[in-house]
Amino acid sequence: MQSFSSTLFADADSEYTAARYVIFGVPFDGTTSFKAGCRDGPSAIRAASYNLESYLPHYDMEMYEAPIHDMGDMYVDCLPDAMAEQVEDTVSLLKEDGKVPVMLGGEHSVTIGAVRALKPAWYVVCDAHLDSQDEYRGSRFNHDCVTARNAECVSNIILIGARSGTREEFSYAREHHHLYTADDVRERGISAVLDEVQKLTGDAPLYLSIDADAIDCCLTPGLGTPEPFGLTPLDIRDVVRRLSPQAVGFDYVEVLPNDQGQTAMVAAHLVREFIAGHFSAGK
Ligand code: MN
Ligand code: MN
Repeated sequence: MQSFSSTLFADADSEYTAARYVIFGVPFDGTTSFKAGCRDGPSAIRAASYNLESYLPHYDMEMYEAPIHDMGDMYVDCLPDAMAEQVEDTVSLLKEDGKVPVMLGGEHSVTIGAVRALKPAWYVVCDAHLDSQDEYRGSRFNHDCVTARNAECVSNIILIGARSGTREEFSYAREHHHLYTADDVRERGISAVLDEVQKLTGDAPLYLSIDADAIDCCLTPGLGTPEPFGLTPLDIRDVVRRLSPQAVGFDYVEVLPNDQGQTAMVAAHLVREFIAGHFSAGK
């Protein structure tokens, strides 16, 4: 039998019932404020995954050893609050079935439903933006309100890589969350920051969300709201490697594939790093 290509994530060969990790896309970009198009993120990340060798030397494992199922992309409603409910319903079912959700955005508002379903002890997010507006452009589910919505159901929030937000958002984050700006990471190094994060979280369950614009837009420019002076792909890989073992869910959002493919390529790598890190820790 010949091999045939697939539109699903590479090496996601398990049936749903046998899978521990369930990938799904949420191609929603209805509230984007600058450049639209991150609804094409999931398919770009999946396409990029076919560039990658199945073998991961860091974990000495083949990707296909991890039981992964890709459900494809959700048919999303056009209103952001309805979309958040769709995600919450889906992730609640995955949780009931004992699966680890791995969600591909779409804009960052897709995270709200997943966090509501999982109610982790900690919400850890890498993002250039604080996303802490209570309401933006007429919606409390705008992609600029994600941290504010998540703070309604998670009491402990860690923000890594921030460098854009209002004065009020920064002072609120400093007072109520654990904020590590992109400058903090540059000054202290990601390793020292992660030591502190691990001290804070212990081994409590956390949800890890990566907004692609945490990474400097000069390195990965396929973004809806690009920001320079950011983290590097290696910084984010360190975050994913360190925190994946205690994560109950993961997403990679805000990839807008209008570049030469580097943003989706980094995303595809980090999705695999998450699964491999989580799977290796549980072996
Ligand atoms: Mn964001
Ligand atoms: Mn952002």
